[in-house]
Amino acid sequence: IPRKAIGMPWPNWGTLPDTPPPAPKPGSIGVAVVGLGGYAIGKAMPALAAADGTHVAAVVSGNPEKAAKVAAAYGVPEDAVYSYDTFADIAGDDRIEAVYIVLPTGLHADWTEMAFAAGKHVICEKPMALTPGECERMIAASEAAGKKLMIAYRCHFEPVNLKATELSLGGAVGTIQRVETANNYRVGNETPADNWRLVRALAGGGPLEDYGLYGLQAAMYLTGELPVRVNATTEQPANDPRFTEIFSTVRAELEFPSGAMAKVETSYNADPNNMSNVYGTEGSMLMQPANGYSGNKITLVRGGVSQPVAAGDSELQFARMVQHFADAVRKGTPIITSGEMGLRDLKLIDAIYRSAASGKPVDL
Ligand code: NAD
Repeated sequence: IPRKAIGMPWPNWGTLPDTPPPAPKPGSIGVAVVGLGGYAIGKAMPALAAADGTHVAAVVSGNPEKAAKVAAAYGVPEDAVYSYDTFADIAGDDRIEAVYIVLPTGLHADWTEMAFAAGKHVICEKPMALTPGECERMIAASEAAGKKLMIAYRCHFEPVNLKATELSLGGAVGTIQRVETANNYRVGNETPADNWRLVRALAGGGPLEDYGLYGLQAAMYLTGELPVRVNATTEQPANDPRFTEIFSTVRAELEFPSGAMAKVETSYNADPNNMSNVYGTEGSMLMQPANGYSGNKITLVRGGVSQPVAAGDSELQFARMVQHFADAVRKGTPIITSGEMGLRDLKLIDAIYRSAASGKPVDL
């Protein structure tokens, strides 16, 4: 799979609405969705349609049949269906105020720059890009254009993660001593020829940028701290056609200024596990699943007694996230999940890989 935007077949998940969404509310921001894969069709577009402040105004795709079908389902007119070759023409299309980049990660920086060059605001999927340098380019392009840049870190808008953060920072487990996160699943019988997530030029080192980023972020928001030192290892099994380009597993230990530690594990070659656990002097808080699309859960354990904590519907996260973007564009409210946060995370990922490569801790 080349490092350029190309048409792809219908994704392996994601369903279209049965009837087009109602007409946008007054003041709603028209968004062009770039890349019509699983996440775009499955989550990003339904969110744009559900939030009061946004609507799908255009689609951008390299697959004309797929684009026509998706556009029709969202009531997007035929003249608002763009290809990767005609994308620059959105500059003259006033129906489009913003662009949502839902392409493979290795394409985020270039397409974000092009969207800013067309004079639009940008919401870009996570991870922001592959390197800190790419993130810096994206931030500079946003500043040069005078347009907003948001990274689509949905867990910052997810009721269970917000509640967990409130509990953890509010002393629910006493003084935090340790955090343990896991974001694991097993990739099927695929190779870099079939799946961009296995291609280094499109996915970077692999699971850490993709799924492990949730655990990495949770370690920071659940402690309220940024790490000062990382120590990491990577695995890349020989003779496994899935992992010719990327790591199968990354494990990192983070040290925080308070002395708290985090163990972050992520793998494409392990039984499914999605947890963020916080252990403190007076108890523990267990989240499992921790970063799912729906049904995230918190259990507080104190004095040996386990107690579930209700926090709200995880599925609200998608529409809340795009509404936050709309508010930033319309009202100028500050963006929580900014380009700076995306850059921070890519710097941390870079330090993790440097530690693994050198076999030594890296100070931040
Ligand atoms: P996907 O493979 O399902 O879709 C990617 C789409 O991008 C393709 O369908 C195609 O339309 C387009 N594309 C253009 N050039 C391509 C190329 N060279 N190779 C492959 N596809 C190309 O992927 P996805 O799971 O939808 O991921 C897209 C982005 O969304 C990624 O940045 C990913 O990290 C992010 N994502 C975020 C979440 C989340 O929970 N926030 C979940 C899944 C994916």
